Amino acid sequence: MPHSILEPLAKYVSGTVRTGEGAARNLRTGLWNGSADIETIAAVECLTASDVENAVRIASDYNAHVSVMGGGHDWTARSVCRNGITLDLRSLNKTRVNRERATLSIEGGAIVQNVLDCLPDDMAFVAGVHSQVGVSGLTLGGGYGKLNSRFGLAADTLQRAEVVLADGTNIVASADENPDLFWALRGAGKNFAILTSAEFALFPLEKVLNAKVFIPLAQARASLRVVQDILDEAGDNLSTFSAFTAVPNQGFGLVLEPLWSGRKQRGEHYLGLLSRLEGATVLVKSWVVYRDIYDASSDAAWPDGQGYRMDAHNIARLTPEVIDVTVECARRSPSEKNCIMLHDFRGAAARVPTEATAFPFRFNHFNMQIVARWEPGRSDEEAKGRQWIEHIRAVLNPLSTRGGYPSVLGLDSHDRARAFYGEAIEALTVIKRKYDLENRFSADFGLF
Ligand SMILES: Cc1cc2nc3c(=O)[nH]c(=O)nc-3n(C[C@H](O)[C@H](O)[C@H](O)COP(=O)(O)OP(=O)(O)OC[C@H]3O[C@@H](n4cnc5c(N)ncnc54)[C@H](O)[C@@H]3O)c2cc1C
Repeated sequence: MPHSILEPLAKYVSGTVRTGEGAARNLRTGLWNGSADIETIAAVECLTASDVENAVRIASDYNAHVSVMGGGHDWTARSVCRNGITLDLRSLNKTRVNRERATLSIEGGAIVQNVLDCLPDDMAFVAGVHSQVGVSGLTLGGGYGKLNSRFGLAADTLQRAEVVLADGTNIVASADENPDLFWALRGAGKNFAILTSAEFALFPLEKVLNAKVFIPLAQARASLRVVQDILDEAGDNLSTFSAFTAVPNQGFGLVLEPLWSGRKQRGEHYLGLLSRLEGATVLVKSWVVYRDIYDASSDAAWPDGQGYRMDAHNIARLTPEVIDVTVECARRSPSEKNCIMLHDFRGAAARVPTEATAFPFRFNHFNMQIVARWEPGRSDEEAKGRQWIEHIRAVLNPLSTRGGYPSVLGLDSHDRARAFYGEAIEALTVIKRKYDLENRFSADFGLF
């Protein structure tokens, strides 16, 4: 790509255009993974949606690839375009709530925390478990979180998106306008267009029961069996995010994070079952407004700038075999900074028809995510983390269903990303050709 692209970019984009070391240094400040390689021809700061349009139009004139940085939480740094230009949307982060219509409007670079900052006490929106993740990145990949069983995936709550296409034109994608693109954006949508703003459904919600229960590793097997039993019995009002992780003053063990959004007595009943598990310590228990389930201690488990590697598996059920293998993997973790998480997916999210969105995995399952973490520069720790993740893959693959969550799969797992989408790949390919024939948006998810 000729360097002369920098001139029109500087002229027609109102934000700063950086190149070389300056670009890398600046983008690094927005990336979660401190060990990710960063190289890009230009980092283009977009302050308005028109900046995005202009930058993409210029990229189109120069036949350049384009990627987008939102919340910067893709661990492989797919937000950074190595052989093209990187549009930095971090300043496009306004959010607004319309109480009458029960909707949330966001700009394309908003993160979950931006939404929490404007969310009324009696309303909820569907997001993941971490407040610093980008809302667009989360939604375009699906969006697992603690309210999936009540209200669906984050992608299911998307109502309308304004996007910039590969030629720089601006269109709306919704159920009524460009419905094929709207379908693709909900679950497989990171390489079709750039989302500059979007509207989501909000949900009225009274106080929820938010808890964290620590279980020592030695008791984790029995506890996870009970978790599966409880989830089988409880309706949509309960979710139980679980994580093998280190907890101050407790050590490395299993943390169960039930969230109950229904009648008080029944919520207390389920929490009672979990808190009476052998060895259980209740770390947190409170009836809070939904916004307050996000607390600093959760975010602190994954600080920015550390070295990270992740992997993902879809687990149909916590069978005794799956539980034994998972607990053994946790026990073998070479570092207490590592983590194995289980998002439960059921209820409303599982009832959405398979063909309704590009997220075809519409049956009860657990999205298992593995995180290896190390101090940047500690190649010995990095190597151990990589080996641990590879070991988990070897022992869990035979027990997994159709790959893993593509948003979290690495660059060596394209076969598993394709397995996840299954027959939807064909339709996605047709839509990709229609909206981005030249593959302007080419972040490497291995689908096209
Ligand atoms: C600590 C942590 C916690 C997580 N928790 C959850 C969770 O609870 N639930 C869950 O489902 N996932 C979770 N994830 C995965 C996360 O949803 C994905 O990594 C997501 O892609 C991150 O989006 P981002 O904007 O933060 O990342 P970025 O790295 O900025 O972007 C990721 C990808 O999305 C594309 N993208 C971003 N913004 C736009 C846009 N406006 N238009 C078009 N493309 C865009 C980028 O080009 C890039 O390919 C988590 C990840 C981490 C690291």
